[in-house]
Amino acid sequence: MKDFELKLENFAKLAVEFGVNVQKGEDLIINSPIEEPSLARKIAKAAYEKGANDVIINWSDDYLTRLDYKYKSQETLNNVYEHIIKKNEYFYEKRLANRISIYSEDPDLLNGLDQKKIAESIRERSKKMKKFTKYTMNDLVSWLVISIPTKKWAMKVFPDLDENEAVEKLWDEIFKTSRIDTSYQKTLENWQNHVNTLNEKADFLNSHQFDKVHYKSENGTDLVVELPKNHIWMSADSKNSKGDKFVPNIPTEEVFTAPKKTGVNGRLVAVKPLVYNGVVIDEFEFEFKEGKVIDFKAKKGEETLKEMLDSDEGAKYLGEIALVPYDSPISLSNVLFFNTLFDENASCHFALGKAYPTCVKGASELSDQQLNSVGLNDSLIHEDFMVGAKDLEIIGYKDDKAYPIFKDGNWA
Ligand code: ZN
Ligand code: ZN
Repeated sequence: MKDFELKLENFAKLAVEFGVNVQKGEDLIINSPIEEPSLARKIAKAAYEKGANDVIINWSDDYLTRLDYKYKSQETLNNVYEHIIKKNEYFYEKRLANRISIYSEDPDLLNGLDQKKIAESIRERSKKMKKFTKYTMNDLVSWLVISIPTKKWAMKVFPDLDENEAVEKLWDEIFKTSRIDTSYQKTLENWQNHVNTLNEKADFLNSHQFDKVHYKSENGTDLVVELPKNHIWMSADSKNSKGDKFVPNIPTEEVFTAPKKTGVNGRLVAVKPLVYNGVVIDEFEFEFKEGKVIDFKAKKGEETLKEMLDSDEGAKYLGEIALVPYDSPISLSNVLFFNTLFDENASCHFALGKAYPTCVKGASELSDQQLNSVGLNDSLIHEDFMVGAKDLEIIGYKDDKAYPIFKDGNWA
């Protein structure tokens, strides 16, 4: 138990000092599940100790969220109250508040409910909140996504264990994959080394400026992805508008950029399930032509996948291409997390929907409408899905010369 307390403490400190990197006088917003408040409390304490001005906590509750979608009218669900918009305007526009989201949703949360109603309300609320996405997606503020176990989520990951064992096992996995040690010094060292390693990969890709990459795997994936001019491969760390470094995902194993919106052609087969709007989508694949999904199928959750693709025009185009070796620590754990933060970091992946403007030189200054002109996709959604098969081969092309990037699922 002593070890657990130390690790929890170090997790909170890492989130504050290395994750969002809170500076003296800044504000921090924490989104946390109410079922497990321990980490949010420790994060708040660590933030004040670092000199934070104000820590604002938004609690969420899966039980109440399900009630909302079940009982509220469509009109009520589509609404975002004026005071919530005002609160966001105040903290993002005036205060440039940093944000930590603790994401721990039950993967089956909205199973069996009216998918059309859920999709419409999420779409309508996203439209009303869209102007705030630039604060995180353009790195105007520091932001961080982390997870802690909740009971239903833990039981989904470890269905053969009893509830307490499942929660305990999921804590173990989160600490392990997040490189948390009982010593804070060691935890920081782990992260500094890890960030350096990922940055070396990104530097290699950036120096080559490939025109396109070709994905091939025996499961049927055969996809050519063009990359936009002046694209930037990013890795673990980013810089906010004040120039402070931060790490937006813990854990993270990926090196990623944006594809050219209209330059994607071929077939792409997913290798892991995707949880979207509280429903599991599994065994799915897409056919792309000139960037757009022209055909798709899913053995499980096909209706939800269709709703996702119909979110808006940009939802049918890719917005992220990310490289993660098959033998990354999360992948080697052989645990299927049903949580994108972990599953995306166990596998090469793509995202449908909005591209990070930070992935093309100078694009952060463009408006959403101008992103098209540099080949970047815009959308209300950004949903990662996993394609990193064991035999995945990726070849990069520069002026028709071929360079191996991935072989048998790992860096070539
Ligand atoms: Zn990603
Ligand atoms: Zn993503």
